[in-house]
Amino acid sequence: MIYEKNVIMKRPLKVDIRFASVYPNLYKTAMSSLGYQIIYGMINERKDSWCERVVYPDTRSIESNSPLKDFDIISFSLQYEQDYFNMLEMLKKAEIPIRRKDREVKNDFDKKKSDYPLIIAGGPCATSNPMPISDFIDIFIIGEFEPILNDFLDLYKKLKYPIKQLESFLSLKGIYLPSVNNKVKRIIVKDMDHAYHVTNPIIAKAEKKEDEDFLPVFGNSILLNVSRGCTRGCRFCMSGYLYRPLRETKLQKLFDVAEKARANTGLKKVSLIGAAVSDYSKIDELIKGLLDRGFQISTPSMRIESITTKSLNFLKRSGAKTITIAPESIYPLRKSINKNIHDEKIFEIIKKATDLGLNLKLYFLIGLINETKEDIKELALYIKKIHSLKDKNSIKFSINPLIPKPHTPMQWEGYDLKDIKSKIKHLKKELKGIDVKFDSPKMGLIQYVLSCKGREVGNILEKSLDLKIPVKEWEKHSKGYYNNKNSNSNNNIISNNNINNDINNNISNNISTNASNINNVLDKEKENINNSNIMTGVLGLETKLPWENIDIGLNENFLKEERKKIFNYENTEWCQKASCYKCGICK
Ligand code: SF4
Repeated sequence: MIYEKNVIMKRPLKVDIRFASVYPNLYKTAMSSLGYQIIYGMINERKDSWCERVVYPDTRSIESNSPLKDFDIISFSLQYEQDYFNMLEMLKKAEIPIRRKDREVKNDFDKKKSDYPLIIAGGPCATSNPMPISDFIDIFIIGEFEPILNDFLDLYKKLKYPIKQLESFLSLKGIYLPSVNNKVKRIIVKDMDHAYHVTNPIIAKAEKKEDEDFLPVFGNSILLNVSRGCTRGCRFCMSGYLYRPLRETKLQKLFDVAEKARANTGLKKVSLIGAAVSDYSKIDELIKGLLDRGFQISTPSMRIESITTKSLNFLKRSGAKTITIAPESIYPLRKSINKNIHDEKIFEIIKKATDLGLNLKLYFLIGLINETKEDIKELALYIKKIHSLKDKNSIKFSINPLIPKPHTPMQWEGYDLKDIKSKIKHLKKELKGIDVKFDSPKMGLIQYVLSCKGREVGNILEKSLDLKIPVKEWEKHSKGYYNNKNSNSNNNIISNNNINNDINNNISNNISTNASNINNVLDKEKENINNSNIMTGVLGLETKLPWENIDIGLNENFLKEERKKIFNYENTEWCQKASCYKCGICK
């Protein structure tokens, strides 16, 4: 049993809007999400609204045990594509028709409410590509909800039949209506100092030792929103592109928030939250300032380049036991995804952390664009070398398939299940006896399809409520947009000449890669040409992508240039340190 403190209770009949904030994943994940707590806090500051939490697998609210159907608005926070299954399961269990068309209001009502609540969705998955779930949702929030949240609720209140007047919501920024398929520009919080910071977080306590597994991932802590957005430009990282530019909260504001939250809750532990916490421009001052004020600090993950001996010492002093870093791959491939971090730096961090007795968790990716069998062999050796540095501390590894994501330079790629499987098989054999966790290649495939495909995928999602979907069904959607025979559009045809030019450019520009990698790039592109010869309507970089109406603000050519650089193993310097590379965000 879990007990909670700081839960907000109101009288249902005293509010105009009952808002169910639904997290279609487990309680411990929900309560570790800062965004989820922000929405809860912001809505409950309004006298006219009551936000309650509904967390998978339950379909009743934690606060008042009310069923989902009783709410005016149901809002899904979609952080992971796999949560789409849970979302539909929850709707079905709550006896709410999952398809929007089946919820349509047939008659006029003499009351404000229709038979069913308004169903909205937000979060990174909904923002990047709402299409796979667009037949299920009434309104998508594209970007961050906070700037329009109050206007959204005010408008809802003003409308007589909100479900019948969905188009009225288009007067707000960041709204995508699947029924209209409108073009939409992403909306984000501009100024972190005036953004909503959580100073009265919900505190969860386990009744028994065995219940502790259900507690939030960071334990009970003050979640301090150090920054949002990251402009380092790792070419596989969707949130790096979705939430640009880098927005920092000022140092003094962070101290004030932490002090206020401690006064409200008695908590002393602070978790630093941000896309790349160690990139915070005053990270050493922040950690020292919090330690001097008597706080303990933990941070989920750190960017290797910005870890300093000082920050490692501070973290150790504040009771941190583990640090998490992501070398991603061996050096040439790391460079190709724009993480130009040399091995010397990585081994230096590992050595320092080991000397301090800190445990390490390292993340790697497989299935990168230029990756060869030789690279995988080298990766196994690389991991063995890191493992050999282990002293009394533990070193754990996590190896995950790369999932191409919308709005990244990899958005045109497909997912090769067979290739990923064979690489994992090889690594498992080579890394016996080392603590390595592999993500499932099949789950990677499903995640890819749900990330990068269109409306048609909704049918599979719906079917999955009653049937086990065979892998083959998902695999039918595994091809990318650069080389895919499923096109009907003449606009999508690219000529082999263009591909040949690309190859020549790739090779002539490539001055830093070894010969085997160049051959591999060449082989891959040749394979594309061969396949393109047997296809009608070959797709290319100009093809229309399912998320074409979602404008997150990036320049059209920027992603294409970045894609080219993957094949050329070429770096793009970080705009915070070097000059602006004109991605388009800071117009
Ligand atoms: S526009 Fe320039 S400064 Fe702004 S995020 Fe993009 S690269 Fe960085």
